Amino acid sequence: MPGIIFDIKRFAVHDGPGIRTTVFLKGCPLRCGWCHNPEGRDQEPCCSDRRVVFDGREYVEPETTGRKVTAEEVMAEVVRERLVMEESGGGVTFSGGEPLMQASFLAELMAACRLEGFHLAVDTSGFATRSDLEKIAPLCDLFLYDLKLIDEMAHRRHTGLSNAMILANFRWLASQGREIRVRIPLIREVTATPGNIRDILEFLLSCGGAVNQVDLLPYHRTGAHKYQRLGIPCHMPPKEAEPSPAEVEEIAALFSSRGFKVKTGG
Ligand code: SF4
Repeated sequence: MPGIIFDIKRFAVHDGPGIRTTVFLKGCPLRCGWCHNPEGRDQEPCCSDRRVVFDGREYVEPETTGRKVTAEEVMAEVVRERLVMEESGGGVTFSGGEPLMQASFLAELMAACRLEGFHLAVDTSGFATRSDLEKIAPLCDLFLYDLKLIDEMAHRRHTGLSNAMILANFRWLASQGREIRVRIPLIREVTATPGNIRDILEFLLSCGGAVNQVDLLPYHRTGAHKYQRLGIPCHMPPKEAEPSPAEVEEIAALFSSRGFKVKTGG
């Protein structure tokens, strides 16, 4: 069965342990205002204009983001990186978008990677049906699980959807003993508020010892130019929403004080 991807990134160092190859699957049901991968949100390939300067003149070239591929085609690219992945203790990460939106294709890819013996991580928003998650969980060594907002209304306001399924799926994975690394985007006055950080901490503590690391991801506006290129409205928070190093440090200290290994950036 073919799937749709929008990138394969080699030498990724922020998507799990070691040096990894990250496959970006297209499509995401959420609409987070701070998303820096808007090209990954629609499931179908999309077109945009790319400006190219050649010989002092500017040209506009149409560019397509996303391609239909088979699992075999993806694997042909992935296995080329075997040496660097194995020697660094890395592996393959599936990201997006939301990779579980293409759960059957993802399962096929992961099964093929399993046969090759690669360590596998899935970077997910957690917005997926339980049956899709059940397809993936046995094939996955590590979940990189985004937790954004615990308050239901705030989650709806900032991502467009409820977090009920996200939190329930997280609890289920934790109850299954799955290895989970939590990723928290830190946006001042949105997710990096004292109330939300305390709620996330309490939620994690209530889930037992499944979480092996908390990654804090300070917000930055580096993806803003992509919206213009894609011709879609940009609702990214302003630069003032980037948390200061002191604010990030304070949040890191809070998680560390409750026994979590913390990493900042990525
Ligand atoms: S879940 Fe991730 S990919 Fe989807 S809209 Fe939010 S930030 Fe973007």
